[in-house]
Amino acid sequence: MKNNVSNDGLPCRDSLANSFPDKNALAVSAKAVIECFQEIPCNPCVGACPRGAISIAEGINGIPSIDHTLCNGCSLCVYQCPGLAIFVVGLDRKDPAKGFVSLPYEFLPVPEKDDIVDVLDREGKVISEGKILKVNKSKATDRTSVVTVEVPSNLLDKARFIKTKRGSK
Ligand code: SF4
Ligand code: SF4
Repeated sequence: MKNNVSNDGLPCRDSLANSFPDKNALAVSAKAVIECFQEIPCNPCVGACPRGAISIAEGINGIPSIDHTLCNGCSLCVYQCPGLAIFVVGLDRKDPAKGFVSLPYEFLPVPEKDDIVDVLDREGKVISEGKILKVNKSKATDRTSVVTVEVPSNLLDKARFIKTKRGSK
């Protein structure tokens, strides 16, 4: 097995850097980021993308990769990944200091548009507050909502979870 994950279970820095879209790609549109680095028998992400942007080269146990020239950031792949390993990142076209991350969310209560939430990194540390821009919660997404949160653009590669400030319903 390739050593893409460090001893603490988090993806290693090189794997993360390689999976993140480059500046030119992000200037065109939002892009999906796949943080799936372990060789597991799984592939719903491949069929989830209507643009054929996701592929797995070495059979079902391979590691998925994405062609960012094909991805338009639609986020259809986000809720279809059982590993909750796909995110979409994008830049605010009017304000380069701001961006957004769309992430899979399976907790209750589900945040609502305009809520202010804590934004967490991969280790669960709070790195910012963010405003919820959009929540996609429908029959099609089943019990996985796709939540889009505004974050400073320098946190697009770090913001991976949110914690709502709403009380449990
Ligand atoms: S965000 Fe949309 S276009 Fe991009 S990989 Fe996912 S499904 Fe495909
Ligand atoms: S669906 Fe998710 S967990 Fe499965 S291979 Fe694709 S990215 Fe990895």
